[in-house]
Amino acid sequence: MGPTMFSSVLIANRGEIACRIARTARRLGLRTIAVYSDADAQSLHVRMCDTAHRVGPAPASESYLRIDALIDAAKASGADCIHPGYGFLSENAGFAEACRDAGIVFVGPPADAIRAMGLKDRAKALMEKAGVPVVPGFHGDMQDPTFLKRKAFEIGYPVLIKAVAGGGGKGMRKVERHADFDTALEAAKREATSAFGDARVLIEKYVGSPRHIEMQVFADRHGNVIHLNERDCTLQRRHQKVIEEAPAPGLSADLRARMGQAAVAAAKAVGYEGAGTVEFIADGARGLKADGFWFMEMNTRLQVEHPVTEAVTGLDLVEWQFRISAGEALPLAQNEVRLDGHAAEARLYAEDPERGFLPSTGRLIALQFPAGEGLRIDSGVEAGDTVTPFYDPMIAKLIAHGATRGEALDRLADALDATVVIGPRSNAGFLSRLCRASGFRDGEFDTGFIDGHLAELGAEPLGLDAAAAAAGVAGLLHREAARLAAAEGEPAALSSPWDATDAFQLSGARRVTVPVLADGENVVAEVAYRPAGPEVTVGGAVAAPDAVTVVDGAAVYVLRQGRQTRVVLRDLALDASGDAGAGGLVRAPMHGKVLAILVEKGDRVTRGQRLAIIEAMKMEHTLVAPLDGLVAEVAVAAEAQLAEGARVMVIEAVDAPSEK
Ligand code: ADP
Ligand code: ADP
Ligand code: MG
Repeated sequence: MGPTMFSSVLIANRGEIACRIARTARRLGLRTIAVYSDADAQSLHVRMCDTAHRVGPAPASESYLRIDALIDAAKASGADCIHPGYGFLSENAGFAEACRDAGIVFVGPPADAIRAMGLKDRAKALMEKAGVPVVPGFHGDMQDPTFLKRKAFEIGYPVLIKAVAGGGGKGMRKVERHADFDTALEAAKREATSAFGDARVLIEKYVGSPRHIEMQVFADRHGNVIHLNERDCTLQRRHQKVIEEAPAPGLSADLRARMGQAAVAAAKAVGYEGAGTVEFIADGARGLKADGFWFMEMNTRLQVEHPVTEAVTGLDLVEWQFRISAGEALPLAQNEVRLDGHAAEARLYAEDPERGFLPSTGRLIALQFPAGEGLRIDSGVEAGDTVTPFYDPMIAKLIAHGATRGEALDRLADALDATVVIGPRSNAGFLSRLCRASGFRDGEFDTGFIDGHLAELGAEPLGLDAAAAAAGVAGLLHREAARLAAAEGEPAALSSPWDATDAFQLSGARRVTVPVLADGENVVAEVAYRPAGPEVTVGGAVAAPDAVTVVDGAAVYVLRQGRQTRVVLRDLALDASGDAGAGGLVRAPMHGKVLAILVEKGDRVTRGQRLAIIEAMKMEHTLVAPLDGLVAEVAVAAEAQLAEGARVMVIEAVDAPSEK
């Protein structure tokens, strides 16, 4: 039965989290109301909800962060409550108050609790008072640089400078030596000002072998506070979580109970209500210790990684959030909370690990996830959707649950290997290697693990995957042959596609070159026609049989071992690269001799149709029509010698087929 008080919810967020909340809301019988920016009008979260309201243009500051627009949408749609998700306004006390003032329940903690934990310095002072261990350091009001530098010296290097208003790893600088302090402070303040409009910082002892272990807490309006065990979020990049798991490797039941008590005390100290996370930093050198963990901050919201807790406790945390916001008491007592097996989550991002994890936007040409026992996929996009530059480029979260840590991590790695993301590049391969990395598997890791193993994890430029490029060329040949055959009304002869429909037979050599652009690189593929069919090689590498190929327009995308290679016939790429103004200029791809001209001036040709054959280095190279059109000019004759780049033919575009 649903929470008695609510019949509808407005979800003030987007993407994966909005979809996640909508799923539970639906199951509880609530009417779901989405909001969207102009960039998200067709998004999955909009499609999933019962109704949707536009809140503004694409930039978050003009849409998802507009308190007035969100409240207007909630009023217009008659929403009983607003769930803020995570990110955006989820930790904004002003938003919680605006909801209350509008008579709409904010599914989250009271504004005062958000405020109390909002600034890291005030939160630490509060925690000290409540008897919760905090990271040694300075978190006072004095911000004079000379004073701060002296404090850093007293604390002892290395230290961490943190923006008091910080979040998302921003405004943070590790300082190893006294001499570097001034520069680091400047940088931290600059970043803090631009990200949070607040330059103030605190200084902490940098904990050696740091492990990030956090406690999920829940509190109700009736004074009950419990924890739902920990999550280990030690695998990070730039202080941002990459893989999270529960339980934390090497955490004893006794230590779990202590950490849980500290987290409950933290929540009680601020009059907490609802879901929250108390983050601790632990010293992992020579194992976790009872006196070796300290409070870092409390996140007063649901967290990205909450599904690992759901997996090991068997609970739905979003359901709990609704029930508690509706005034119900916590459904379980502390000793009734389960901890079953092990769960791990990987954040799948549209980013390129080989290029410094740069976000990689664009249309998701293909997107497929495996399904199976112990596997959960939370996504906010589907194939055909676009990853835009406006928001967090997370594609999905993959969560695996197993009886043991090994089983969960194997399951997660296998799921990542079976995931297909085509279009934007993704970190799937990187994440899968991370799940299998030996130090991590042995439980010997700290927050520096990823940075210390970038090369092993494939997070560096790896160069062209020649076997994938060859597979892409095979895919292109196959596609072009099928297209030509269809155009001529004949079935495609798939065994030997390239010459299947051509009466012109070359004597002698049965090796043909195909110049392509593979990930923007000029590459010449070789096709050898063997009795068993054509064999494509690039730089001696045979087309990989394990590659997934997807044709999209003129390009073939090849996915192999988590890496994507995009292949385009170079002739077809000419117009795309702006080589010829009209788009129909056909050039010689290399020095060579014209073996045959297969068309005449005035002929109608279709894109991909063979135009001429050039011989170079004892191999045949076929030139194809870059577009549908008429042969406007034939610039060379058979037997002519050509220089690389020489003008061979011009094809004039014909807009629509006029015949028949
Ligand atoms: P944690 O992982 O501790 O919950 P994060 O800071 O990593 O904390 O997660 C919150 C971040 O998620 C926000 O800073 C924001 O960039 C991002 N975010 C916010 N909304 C969404 C969303 N709908 N989908 C994906 N990411 C989001
Ligand atoms: P944010 O608000 O950006 O999440 P946190 O205070 O939670 O900031 O710190 C983010 C990350 O930085 C932590 O998860 C941890 O990996 C690292 N970190 C923070 N404080 C320390 C510390 N004192 N020593 C070592 N690492 C730390
Ligand atoms: Mg944090």
